[in-house]
Amino acid sequence: MAAPWEDVLRDEAAIREAASVAVDAALLEGVLMRTEGEPNASDVVNYAPFTLLPSAVPSALFEQAYAVQQDFNLLVDAISQNKEFLEHTLASTIKVDDFTARLFRIHTQVLEEGLAQSVFLGINRSDYMFDCGVDGTAALKQIEINTIAASFGGLTSRTAAVHGQVLKVLGKSKEASRLLPNNPSKGLALGIAKAWELYGSQSAVVMFLVEEVQRNIFDQRCVENELWNRNIRVIRKRFRDVFEKGSLDDARRLYMDGQEVAVVYYREGYVPKNYDQQNWEARLLLERSRAVKCPDIATQLAGTKKVQQELSRPGTLERLLPGRAEAVARIRATFAGLYSLDVGEEGDKIAAAAIADPNQFVLKPQREGGGNNLYGEELRQVLEKIRDSPERTSYILMDKIKPQPAMNYLLRAHSPLQVSECISELGIFGVYVRQGKEMVMNKAAGHLLRTKAIEHADGGVAAGVAVLDTPYLV
Ligand code: ADP
Ligand code: MG
Repeated sequence: MAAPWEDVLRDEAAIREAASVAVDAALLEGVLMRTEGEPNASDVVNYAPFTLLPSAVPSALFEQAYAVQQDFNLLVDAISQNKEFLEHTLASTIKVDDFTARLFRIHTQVLEEGLAQSVFLGINRSDYMFDCGVDGTAALKQIEINTIAASFGGLTSRTAAVHGQVLKVLGKSKEASRLLPNNPSKGLALGIAKAWELYGSQSAVVMFLVEEVQRNIFDQRCVENELWNRNIRVIRKRFRDVFEKGSLDDARRLYMDGQEVAVVYYREGYVPKNYDQQNWEARLLLERSRAVKCPDIATQLAGTKKVQQELSRPGTLERLLPGRAEAVARIRATFAGLYSLDVGEEGDKIAAAAIADPNQFVLKPQREGGGNNLYGEELRQVLEKIRDSPERTSYILMDKIKPQPAMNYLLRAHSPLQVSECISELGIFGVYVRQGKEMVMNKAAGHLLRTKAIEHADGGVAAGVAVLDTPYLV
């Protein structure tokens, strides 16, 4: 599945020229990030890291990933409404993982009080790698599904133009014309706009809940601008602002500074470091409110690694999606091997197998955002240490996916231009809106390709490991 630019990869002069064109094109197109030094100011910005060349993606697998996205939307939504499933699945995890336990406590609390929210909005991104079989054929395998703060739907819409220009500079106009248009931020905004409309108050705003450190603001602005273009007012607030200025009225309508909030779109709140005691209180206030949370806390829990692992058990998908055999088959086809480390014989067996052959597995805690998983020798050491303790139930094991590497250049500010052996991860954005029991929108909204050098086992773009890319279908 090689891309047709192997010939130019070693032409140093051509590559150097193309790279300088690429960087300027990225700045012009708005493939931007704030700098590490000034993460909260836009006076100085830089380009977000990206590949010099688009990466080859097998078109059949690309289509497969799009075709299964509506199924995943239905599945996540079904899990979020299934109190018993979440309770049963997360029971062992919340005994040992404090973060998941706190989220779960809020989930229980809002259900006990009774949900004020009646419109539900899901924005997720299902991520895949192309697993290379012994016979050389590639298979689409899901890495995870992100149900909160799935990012880069904005910046990714701008990379195709950059890569198109690079290909032209390299004498590949025909190939340039084959790059697909892609704009997830528009689809995301359509979902937010629909939820806002169904909430039913013209004067209410959409609130982006953002982090204290906002390097990736331009990605979020892409979605914001789509909303402003529809005359929907957007405000950006942090948990701290909500703690200080958020309130609920008798009907549990959410107000910020006296402004009614129709939709809360979280780009924050997915890792323990996002929370202190005040932020937990702010989260509870938001969850209790009538506002449409994207996601609500149940949907966030549906995206945990533990849930992902339980979904792979025989019969689970069938129970969650009754009468949808074809959707179940499409979903299951994307699953890699996933294993529970719960205390008991099943967990003992797989722990022993992973210790014996750690390179076949990835050890994953209940964390998001990259850099948390364990591989190889480190996996072995950690697992040996926790194999006889209940702590091991805070992790899951997963078969390691082994994609075929390809050569590319990763362009990063202040870094030398050098060729790297790379692998890619494809994400598909899903958007859905449900009113009461009725699905009123269910879509695939676009894609994201991220590429990293093979020496990094883990990590995304925000973590400084992967870079933005554009798929070139082969
Ligand atoms: P996070 O929530 O931190 O993003 P992921 O499950 O997406 O967690 O893992 C982070 C990164 O680790 C992925 O982007 C991918 O590069 C790598 N990774 C995760 N699972 C696997 C796997 N089963 N095989 C190979 N690489 C994996
Ligand atoms: Mg991930």
